[in-house]
Amino acid sequence: MVQDSFISRCTQCGAKNRIPRSRAGEKAVCGKCRAQLNLTAAYPEHAIDVNERTFDAEVLRFPGPVLVLFWAPWCGHCRILLPVVDDLASEYSGLIKFTKIDLDKSQGLASQYQVQSVPTMIVFKNGGLVNRLLGAVPKDQIVYHLRALL
Ligand SMILES: [Zn+2]
Repeated sequence: MVQDSFISRCTQCGAKNRIPRSRAGEKAVCGKCRAQLNLTAAYPEHAIDVNERTFDAEVLRFPGPVLVLFWAPWCGHCRILLPVVDDLASEYSGLIKFTKIDLDKSQGLASQYQVQSVPTMIVFKNGGLVNRLLGAVPKDQIVYHLRALL
């Protein structure tokens, strides 16, 4: 079984350190420069599922930028975008967190954030909404908007 892990980026040297999820909350040091790592900000390498119960903790209280993809299983454009968002999660692990919300299961969140159609991507930073991207936006366009966050 592949162990679930996340990436912690060293604030001293910038190295990416892979940490098993079971060790989140423990003390760890950078594999390259031995500096203490901050494991409170867990950046998964793929988009993780978020729902109304976990939204506050995973998105609003996360200490960094978070992209939220509102999607639905019946949406063709969403099926194109999901692997793109997973790719970006891997490329930007340690910098930006990527999450996805199934519209049908979290309609309260959809109405709270005025999501009228899927796919819709909303970017949060420190609990505030900073950007909204509508439709199956090409990857280079998403990257353009994400770079503005870093
Ligand atoms: Zn380091």
